Amino acid sequence: MRTHLKFITSKNTFLAVTTVITTLLLSACVTTNKDQKAQDDSSNMVGQATTFSPRADNQYLSQEQAFKRSARVSNVSYQLHYSLTGKELFSASSTINFALSDNASPLTVDLNKAQITSIEINGFSMPVAQLEKNYNQWFITLPAEQLIKGNNAVTVNFTRKHSTNGEGLHRFKDPVDDKVYLYSHFEPAAAQQMFALFDQPDLKATFEMIVSAPQEWTVFSAMKEEKITQQGDFNIWHFPKSKTLSPYNFSLHAGPYKMWQDNSGKYPLRLFTRQSVSNQITPRHWFTYTQQGFEFFDDYFGIEYPFKKYDQVLVPDFLYGAMENAAAVTFAEGSFLTNGEMSQSRRQRLASVIMHEMAHQWFGNLATMKWWNGLWLNESFAAFMATLATAESTEFTNAWRSFYAGGKQSAYRADQRVTTHPIEVPVPSTANAFDNIDAITYSKGASVLNQLRHLLGEKIFQQGIHNYLSNNSYNNAVLDDFINSLAKASGKNLEQWQQKWLYQAGVNTIEASYQCNAGKISSFKLLQTADASQPTLREQKVQIALLKAKKPGFDLTKKISVIYQGKSTQVDELIGVTCPDLVYPNYQDWAFVKVNLDARSFKTTQNYLAQIQDPLLRSMLWQSLWDSVRDGKLPLNEYLKVALANAPLEQDYTTLGQILGQISSAKIYLNKGLGNQHAYVKEIAQQLEEITWQSTLANSDHKNMQRRWFSSYLNFAHTDSALDNLYKLLNGQHSLEGLIISQDIRWDIIAQLSRFQHAKSAELIAQELTLDSSDTGEKSAIYAQVIAPDAKVKTNWLVEIQQKNSNVGFSKLRTAMSALYPSEQNSFREQSATQLMSSLMEIDKVKGPVFMRSYNNLIPATCSELSVARLKTAINDLTELSSGTKRSLLIKHQEDQRCLMIRHSLTLPN
Ligand SMILES: [Zn+2]
Repeated sequence: MRTHLKFITSKNTFLAVTTVITTLLLSACVTTNKDQKAQDDSSNMVGQATTFSPRADNQYLSQEQAFKRSARVSNVSYQLHYSLTGKELFSASSTINFALSDNASPLTVDLNKAQITSIEINGFSMPVAQLEKNYNQWFITLPAEQLIKGNNAVTVNFTRKHSTNGEGLHRFKDPVDDKVYLYSHFEPAAAQQMFALFDQPDLKATFEMIVSAPQEWTVFSAMKEEKITQQGDFNIWHFPKSKTLSPYNFSLHAGPYKMWQDNSGKYPLRLFTRQSVSNQITPRHWFTYTQQGFEFFDDYFGIEYPFKKYDQVLVPDFLYGAMENAAAVTFAEGSFLTNGEMSQSRRQRLASVIMHEMAHQWFGNLATMKWWNGLWLNESFAAFMATLATAESTEFTNAWRSFYAGGKQSAYRADQRVTTHPIEVPVPSTANAFDNIDAITYSKGASVLNQLRHLLGEKIFQQGIHNYLSNNSYNNAVLDDFINSLAKASGKNLEQWQQKWLYQAGVNTIEASYQCNAGKISSFKLLQTADASQPTLREQKVQIALLKAKKPGFDLTKKISVIYQGKSTQVDELIGVTCPDLVYPNYQDWAFVKVNLDARSFKTTQNYLAQIQDPLLRSMLWQSLWDSVRDGKLPLNEYLKVALANAPLEQDYTTLGQILGQISSAKIYLNKGLGNQHAYVKEIAQQLEEITWQSTLANSDHKNMQRRWFSSYLNFAHTDSALDNLYKLLNGQHSLEGLIISQDIRWDIIAQLSRFQHAKSAELIAQELTLDSSDTGEKSAIYAQVIAPDAKVKTNWLVEIQQKNSNVGFSKLRTAMSALYPSEQNSFREQSATQLMSSLMEIDKVKGPVFMRSYNNLIPATCSELSVARLKTAINDLTELSSGTKRSLLIKHQEDQRCLMIRHSLTLPN
């Protein structure tokens, strides 16, 4: 420890001495430069240049400023030194070498909220007074006269607090054993919370790094360390020069992580978790999916994995699901740790996220977007590729069906909202980088790429991708490069396609319209419509399937592929075919389009849903029914009649998940629209509790199905007897054949008991916390406390959430937000509505976009005329809101109107 301090102190002493000397030298030098330049360029006001800051005085970087900078700067390399102790502060030195095309004006270097001890520009130290003037806590302005046309070197020494918001170099202290863990997260522009740099994707650079860290720590990054030396109580980790990377793809993780290794495949793999949660993962799953992924991607892209080794680390407090840092990927603990056996759906999600991040290593890290408007393609491509790789290389051959039921439905919903937007939109500044990162960019984008694959053909599509990646390796590219690559491979002009799919918002609807004569089809056309607000009609390749009922089940009598366009497309090939009982015009889900079932097919679906053998088709028909509810065409009670009769018959795991999700949404509409005391809602609630429990019992031989039913039961159990049943499962008085009550399930049970005011719930929370005092345990306890229908608890938490500087970490506040207002507690939401609305603008201003993403879920929408009007007023009055919050408000308003419409469409007997 002492030796380590000496290392830092001696460096600083040296710097202090050199500062004095170079300050003296510098004043002379500046004058010379000034005179020189005044002669070189009479239009250049050098006097201004020293004080003029070339960008807006805030933490964001505009595209314009970024492109101006990258037009002048090239050949960037970083040498980074870190001294990590586990304490709240770290100290660092970051040297940037770069070429500059002109030194006519100042240049800025990003560095967020650091205590700078010295800056050296091309051998000269910036005097303290100048340093203070030239650093605004967001970026350093390097005066023009200290820059050189040609090669420059800038060194910044600083100390900084570790971040605790999930960005920069995040620090987490484990409540279980007090061990400290660090990890970095940079996207879109948070590398500047860890070092001084040009923080923009098109200034790719190499990174060399030396890290001093406590001896029991492991340090890992984009490259594998070349050596570890010892200095007192610390180890010095030497990382060799990396490949050329965009800064947001670089990373540094350090701490006493538990490590597993697997060298049995093509690339060396490592996996890390915190020590205290290391029993909550199954490394075998991780290594299996990872190896399957590498085999798939190496082959599919036709380019070997570029970064040689592959590390994956589970980290706490993570803001997103995972992040594709080159060769050192981070995953959110919350999504991937399990206290107990991992359910099938979570294992599938794990495989899919591993594939997603791995796809980015090529598409994103090797060939990178130039600016954040390209982020959608990055994410859409990874989402598409993850589904393809999961379906084709892992045990989860159902991956496309899961995509259909999950991501694709979110995309359809998002694309029908007033807030929809084209897939490709301008991103004026880093402040807006994530504004449009939503279901449109991930899932609509992925669906559209999948349609393009069908349109062009698998092999041609793959060739186009290969060409794009190899032409842009270690470089930046834009959308046109991608489209041109595919156009060239296919020999097709894709301009129209690009225009209509990527620059126009909205989803179309298709419907089969046909006539039969003497048992045969006499005419058949596909009709395409668009919403009036988004009138673009598009061209797509689909498959039309015709089915005929037999007893029991259905025969697929005909399947043809068709490219449709415009309002109506004649399909003569089907004339003369046996008149069908069911027509589905997007069979096997090639297209991104809503399907309106024709009247006969709709009736068939309602009556014989469970008899459709093809699981994807069955899933799509379930979706058609649910869409009809959401569009106000089918009364919710009619849907529930079909759903409650057919759900227990469902034998497919993925489809069952989809159905239970729909039923859960249906229950939310009822709770909010009619209230949980309404006789019909009570009756449905009772039935749901009963059906989910009976199905849990009935599936004791099918572990995965049983788990799925039991999760639903955990959500619907509310009567005294069901709560008592849960209580007994918790304390071991009851047991369920086939089901282990794991720590995760224990917390779920406790939350449900608390939600419905079981007499013992407060006691149970406190007691469980003594058994599980982990970070997950703490969050689960907060969740269980906040979800209780207790006005005082809710008010206290709301105050905490709204505080300008809460001492409670963001990830815990986020947990509390998610528990505040379950749908049956609509009255609590209504009670806090006025306060939430009147403070919205102020909170939006203070808290920033990451916080607001969670907070905006609290905007009150209570499914009443009053609530719709209140939201409308807010939309009109709160004009100063950030774009993200404005969008949330618009969505809340539209969805609240939908809830009212669904309520009005109910056809309940009086
Ligand atoms: Zn991604």
